[in-house]
Amino acid sequence: MRLILLGPPGAGKGTQAASIVQRYEIPHISTGDIFRKNMKEGTQLGLKAKEFMEKGLLVPDQLVVEIVKDRLEQEDCKKGFLLDGFPRTVVQAEALGHALKKMNVALDKAINVNVDKHILIERAVGRRICKECGATYHITLHPSAKKDDCEKCGGLLYQRSDDNEETVSKRIEVYLNETQPLIDYYKNEGILVTINGQQDIGKVFDEIVVALGA
Ligand code: ADP
Ligand code: AMP
Repeated sequence: MRLILLGPPGAGKGTQAASIVQRYEIPHISTGDIFRKNMKEGTQLGLKAKEFMEKGLLVPDQLVVEIVKDRLEQEDCKKGFLLDGFPRTVVQAEALGHALKKMNVALDKAINVNVDKHILIERAVGRRICKECGATYHITLHPSAKKDDCEKCGGLLYQRSDDNEETVSKRIEVYLNETQPLIDYYKNEGILVTINGQQDIGKVFDEIVVALGA
């Protein structure tokens, strides 16, 4: 299965990605996670990405596209993949299309997680992530049973530096201008499925499984 996840910041893409990759046994490729890992390790890529991420802006297309192309060529992507947070612009979508064509493969579905704008800020600002395993929680909507520690691995939970109200608002604005047009882009390609992201996490997943037809 070759999939992409579309949706505004805070829609629940990462949360659903964890269940999708488990069920379909495909690698989870989150460009945001790749940048955060590089920032933590202090690489050149991390330093460059940080400039944009901290302001809620998109990292330049060229940089992101190269990373994703390299990643898709790795062995584990032969069985499929789930792209989360990529593509985010029409330029990125076109570059992905070309890269897949060269590999003689195509996307099966673009999953659009639809959530009203007014609840995105609450979701993103309350988000907490495990430092060790990357599991995602929410302080009130989806708390860890172990409070400030991860209920899966015991790791400490932290808040992303770009999950403050000002930066999240900027990221939503950027989404509306740059990424939302991809909904029509993939509708035209005939592979778009839109999922109601405003229901329980488990129900959202059930809807995705039905939409994927397996
Ligand atoms: P994205 O990857 O789209 O930015 P996340 O999956 O990280 O979004 O989810 C954002 C926040 O909303 C997290 O704190 C997560 O726990 C919470 N969340 C995700 N899905 C739901 C849902 N269906 N209902 C309530 N809260 C949710
Ligand atoms: P995310 O983890 O998906 O919320 O992404 C966090 C931040 O990483 C974004 O606000 C962007 O600055 C950057 N980023 C992640 N994916 C992309 C992408 N496909 N294109 C450009 N910037 C990205």
